[in-house]
Amino acid sequence: MGEFDLIARYFNRPTRRAALGPGDDCALVAPGAGQQLAISCDMLVEGRHFLSTVDPARLGHKALAVNLSDLAACGARPLACTLALALPRVDADWLAGFSEGLYALADAHGCELVGGDTTAGPLNVCITVFGEVPGGAALLRSGARAGDALWVSHAPGGGVGDARLALEAFRGTLALEGGALERVRRAMECPQPRVALGLALRGVASAAVDVSDGLLGDLTHLLRRSGVGATVDADAVPRSLELAAQPLAVQRLCTLSGGDDYELLFSAPADAAPRVEAAARAAGVAATRIGAIEAEPGLRLVDAAHRPIEPAWSSFDHFAA
Ligand code: ADP
Ligand code: MG
Repeated sequence: MGEFDLIARYFNRPTRRAALGPGDDCALVAPGAGQQLAISCDMLVEGRHFLSTVDPARLGHKALAVNLSDLAACGARPLACTLALALPRVDADWLAGFSEGLYALADAHGCELVGGDTTAGPLNVCITVFGEVPGGAALLRSGARAGDALWVSHAPGGGVGDARLALEAFRGTLALEGGALERVRRAMECPQPRVALGLALRGVASAAVDVSDGLLGDLTHLLRRSGVGATVDADAVPRSLELAAQPLAVQRLCTLSGGDDYELLFSAPADAAPRVEAAARAAGVAATRIGAIEAEPGLRLVDAAHRPIEPAWSSFDHFAA
């Protein structure tokens, strides 16, 4: 199978919304009147972001999910995406699984695959997403104000940190029984982008970021962009039953600096709590208040009794030693 057969077979479903999809030199997409384009790009590299053994359908899902999560964090509605794919070889089963996983999530969010590029090379998946948001309505990292409450989204009955828990189990630093391992592995391999929540938080949240590199690290980005600080109640960060069964140090590591969560971390005026809860309900997710935005810069971490905790965390950084 050659490059063009491969594209025609796996990545060329007809588009409905886009004026022109794959096949020409460019795709054509028109945002609605008065809308701004929201654009984001995320790359997944074998060995760094995923293992070669990952189920290809889950990889297709995750490659798009991490991008949709960025649109969610801006309160943007997905429109279209492009896929740049480097493949070591043409493996029909792998491609069928990968494209199924990608299209299933794309269809669920009305995000059409309109083009891309395909080349031989070490396995690498790079997706760019395009969304739309009414002019001036995007949720930014820079809008948090002293007095706002700090919230994090999560699955109802679930929490933050399961992806890291799965990673630690794969690394062999801790052991999980089969059912628990499968559940947290799903969190790592099949994150659910909080697109509906991002849309529902327009006009409610003052600032937002998605948690991809660890809650405290991503919070630091939001605080710096907003020129504020925060106190976070470490033990208020919600966690799954699987994570809650681990020692407290593991719970804190996974919830606070885990990474790969793709939850929304956001601030909202203190009196907006009922509107935040209504937005989460409407989106079919949960949101928990985990702290407060303060004028004093920096990040202060406390336990349930409000005693300071040593901030022994670090955010993920690809180039850190
Ligand atoms: P060009 O050389 O003009 O950039 P290509 O030959 O690379 O075009 O691609 C041909 C068409 O197939 C283009 O419309 C491109 O967007 C589309 N395409 C290539 N790879 C992919 C892919 N992985 N997924 C979706 N569309 C793709
Ligand atoms: Mg090309």
